[in-house]
Amino acid sequence: MTSGLCIGCGLCETVTEQRVQMQPTGAGSLRPAPLDGFSAEEEAQLLAACPGTVASPRSDLDSEPDDVWGRVSDMRLAWAGDPDVRFRAATGGVLTALGMHLLDSGQAAFVLHVGTDPTAPMRSRWVMSESSTEVLENAGSWYGPTAPLAGLGPALDRREPFAVIAKPCDLGALHAYASIDPRVNELVVARLTMVCGGQSRFEKSQDVISALGVDESEVSLFRYRGYGNPGPTRVETHDGRSFELSYNEMWDDESGWKTESRCTVCPDALGEAADVAAADAWPGGGPTGEDEGFNGIMVRSAAGAALVASADSAGALVLGDPITVREYDDLQPHQVRKKVALSARYEGFTLAGHPVIETSGLRIDALGARLSDEDRIREIDGTVRRVNAGRYSE
Ligand SMILES: Cc1cc2nc3c(=O)[nH]c(=O)nc-3n(C[C@H](O)[C@H](O)[C@H](O)COP(=O)(O)OP(=O)(O)OC[C@H]3O[C@@H](n4cnc5c(N)ncnc54)[C@H](O)[C@@H]3O)c2cc1C
Ligand code: SF4
Ligand code: SF4
Repeated sequence: MTSGLCIGCGLCETVTEQRVQMQPTGAGSLRPAPLDGFSAEEEAQLLAACPGTVASPRSDLDSEPDDVWGRVSDMRLAWAGDPDVRFRAATGGVLTALGMHLLDSGQAAFVLHVGTDPTAPMRSRWVMSESSTEVLENAGSWYGPTAPLAGLGPALDRREPFAVIAKPCDLGALHAYASIDPRVNELVVARLTMVCGGQSRFEKSQDVISALGVDESEVSLFRYRGYGNPGPTRVETHDGRSFELSYNEMWDDESGWKTESRCTVCPDALGEAADVAAADAWPGGGPTGEDEGFNGIMVRSAAGAALVASADSAGALVLGDPITVREYDDLQPHQVRKKVALSARYEGFTLAGHPVIETSGLRIDALGARLSDEDRIREIDGTVRRVNAGRYSE
């Protein structure tokens, strides 16, 4: 929790039955507090499941994993069958369409995911959507802090089948926590995720409204993207003003992303603990304009394959052309670069005496062998420098 590798997933809140709560820090992250609020048993559970300490894939496929993408039984373009879902969602609406289908077909009683906090529209909260209308209301990507697993305890306590839509790191924690709480594998019928380039601290959203001359108390709507693909970042105020920034205006300058520390060393941003992962599908990795919304999906388990087939035959999902793993590299070049750099960054952590995330089955060393000696040294030196400068101290 103090290694700078907490991503604020919210599992601490579940493990302690809300005694420890997720709180915003001055730097704009969600972190558990108070830090001395854990029993020894809870600390041991968190050491075994926290994404700041461990990460491993979860798949029942027996295919050979691709070094970058892991185990997949199908990779292809896909989008929501309902044009309204496709339009409102972050990309092509696959995650929302699958969540809605799980409820409409009676496979799940609710979906645990995140949405807007109605009392603070720039901030997120975990939510249990019980109808497909509610799932759609909570569509879209939150690039700011989210703590979906703070809702895991209340969700498990309902003792009904449910689906979880969350980031890859959240689903990694869910997978690890399943070996501590058997209700996870009994009740969670689907684990859905997005491919994730990193979560920004709240400061990023704050910078956006500051540049517009708006105060958080004036904001009535803050939408990062969606209503198109990628759609604009849109801010509305209680007194009727509205502002829009294009995706590229929002993300062109990487120095302003205010990314969480764990994201710079994330061992699984590709959703290897999910049944289905959904990504953007822009050739070269970024949008050149607006389109109708196309997800690249990765099916990672038998349950994921059955869900996609069932949503396809119900018309909730439209399946497009297959994508090969090497074509996927071209859709996500930043993800490939990060995975290849990871083992050197971990080596830098160790050299600087900083704890690393213990990974297994994620092929970090095999990918690291692709780095040239020169790049490896640059990555190690850069990481040591950042550790010594306090980038990973909290
Ligand atoms: C922080 C972040 C970084 C991303 N980086 C990349 C990237 O590098 N490359 C790429 O291809 N795609 C990236 N995406 C994914 C992309 O923005 C879409 O989420 C993805 O393509 C799924 O689209 P969709 O239309 O199916 O989602 P939707 O149908 O809109 O559904 C999104 C679902 O995810 C849930 N959700 C949204 N944000 C969060 C969050 N922060 N934490 C937990 N749950 C959440 C919502 O509650 C909703 O249920 C990122 C998304 C996020 C949130
Ligand atoms: S990453 Fe999650 S489990 Fe780990 S310390 Fe943060 S909130 Fe707790
Ligand atoms: S990059 Fe990794 S650690 Fe960061 S939010 Fe995404 S999945 Fe989580």
